[in-house]
Amino acid sequence: METVTIASMHRHDMTVYRSYGQGIFRIKGRSGDELYGLTVVRDCFDKIDMGNGPSGPKNPNATYPVPIRAIDVAKDVTQGYAGLGIFICKGEKPTIEELREASEAVKKEASGKVMEADVLWEKPGTRVEITDFHRDCCKLLGLEREWVYTQKEMKPVVECPACFTEIDPRAVVCPNCRAVLDRERAEEFGLVAAGAGPIVSKKKNG
Ligand SMILES: [Zn+2]
Repeated sequence: METVTIASMHRHDMTVYRSYGQGIFRIKGRSGDELYGLTVVRDCFDKIDMGNGPSGPKNPNATYPVPIRAIDVAKDVTQGYAGLGIFICKGEKPTIEELREASEAVKKEASGKVMEADVLWEKPGTRVEITDFHRDCCKLLGLEREWVYTQKEMKPVVECPACFTEIDPRAVVCPNCRAVLDRERAEEFGLVAAGAGPIVSKKKNG
């Protein structure tokens, strides 16, 4: 029986579903101070449907078992996860070199995610699409970004109808272009003399 070890530097376990073997593969992530988690995969079987009707005790020939080597299982279940620091070890434990390579892959993936979030942040409408994974990537790379700290309690903003910058929806005068958004209140606060600034109506930002 051949076994192959998968190492994961990801901080969560990953569950991968497949049609073969036990059907569920749990790739252990790192926990606590660990650098990585280890998962051992073994040779297993896939079942080929023979077209003889549904399988069951009365129909033992409904499927035909086909062996799959551990290395092929490992390649299949880790596919696309290099960016999360999940990789196949050559031995029973990852070498320093393997760990270094894996961290490089994680950093590369993380910079891509940070760039993605930077784009999402540019438009107020897409800011909600920034996930905790984006924030984790930013922290991992030690980068400073405004969107890392905003979380869910993001301050509501509206677009000034005159200069189109984002402002507090309660503003009576735009802090950027001085457009009067609420003349009555602006006069009340002595922020506006008669006839000063363009008068525009406050518009909600969709
Ligand atoms: Zn303005």
